[in-house]
Amino acid sequence: MALVLQGGAVLTANANNDFLPAADIRIEGTDIAAIGAAGSLAQPGDRVIDASETLVTPGLINVHTHAATAFFRGLADDRSRAFWAGYAVPGQEHFTIDDYTGSVRAACAEFLLNGVTCIADRLGDMDRIAPAIAETGIRAIIGHTLTDNRKPADWGTVDALIERFGTDPRSRVSAGIAPHALDTCSDALLMECARRAERSGARVFIHVAQSEPEVAAVRARGYDGALACLAKTGLASPITVAAHALYLSDAEIEAWPRHGIAIAHCPASNLKIEARTMPLFRLIGRVPIGLGTDWTVTNNSMDLLAEARLAALVGKMMADDPEVLTVQQMVRMLTIDGARALGIDRVTGSIEPGKRADLVLFDANRLEATPAHDMASNLLYAMSGRLARDVLVDGQLLVTGGKLVRDDETALARRHRHTGTSASH
Ligand SMILES: [Zn+2]
Repeated sequence: MALVLQGGAVLTANANNDFLPAADIRIEGTDIAAIGAAGSLAQPGDRVIDASETLVTPGLINVHTHAATAFFRGLADDRSRAFWAGYAVPGQEHFTIDDYTGSVRAACAEFLLNGVTCIADRLGDMDRIAPAIAETGIRAIIGHTLTDNRKPADWGTVDALIERFGTDPRSRVSAGIAPHALDTCSDALLMECARRAERSGARVFIHVAQSEPEVAAVRARGYDGALACLAKTGLASPITVAAHALYLSDAEIEAWPRHGIAIAHCPASNLKIEARTMPLFRLIGRVPIGLGTDWTVTNNSMDLLAEARLAALVGKMMADDPEVLTVQQMVRMLTIDGARALGIDRVTGSIEPGKRADLVLFDANRLEATPAHDMASNLLYAMSGRLARDVLVDGQLLVTGGKLVRDDETALARRHRHTGTSASH
């Protein structure tokens, strides 16, 4: 039995950026089997979902998240840059592993309810966190954070995660290698990450040039800046996904595309804690760039559409040019370019036969989605993630009618409201 999404307006994000005003999408198992004219693809016995009053898009790809810290939301607004040295939040010493693992379910639910079907998620204790992410049905690349500035790097957990989840981008959950940042990892550790990535086929996820102290620490090791450190340690390559990239010199930005390093652009988080962001207009189209909502203490939203809108508007301001960062470019950043950044663009990120059925049906009967002059424009500039009516990952419905299939939002919220408060006072 197939599942047919019937008669939706389809934003494909394929190579031609085709927009189909009314089309059927036939899903067989995990994959998109066919796309055709409205009413043409359902066969007797198929399950049919009426998509005629929806905008169907590829699932949104959130390329930089820390799901297990979802309960940090609201703990540290309006702080100085110096406050973020070490990225500790008030009361953190009292939090338990149960707070973190418990928060994962709420976070993944919130991602899904916002139309996010894929996350690149990282934190310590990922061996405890990843199974909770996997259970929710979301697509994920997970990384156990490595540092060696205080104690030796915990390769045992990384190896166990690679053993359990593999590095195959076709798996719904796969493992990456996740050195924390250039100042919390030695050159030797960064080199080891590059070597192991090469050997295992994993991608490397790392925070890069997120703060001035980080770059100062890199310079103290004899490098001109972050890019030189990445180059010397073997990480200046397309297998690396660099989050933030805030403190790059003009010369580094010019040289960056030669290395093909993908970027996780997190403008809300960057603006909130560093009051600056990457000059997106200088790198868009030159390297794969996706959007990330980062962790909730520095954003504090998980709405990736809001992130895209911010990226476009602030990006135009930085470029001093309202013509840059077009609707089409930003929609691609939310979808296929995010997938490219993560190395999973052959699997997901666009609506094409043979790809996984990671899809969002946005409710076109909400006022923010009207009128229908340009649905991509509405998506970027007017709609919120919560207009997601139905969400599928690997052909599985995880949200229907705006409600979670595998969980109850109210029950999750009731528990999450008090997460992290029981042990702290
Ligand atoms: Zn981060």
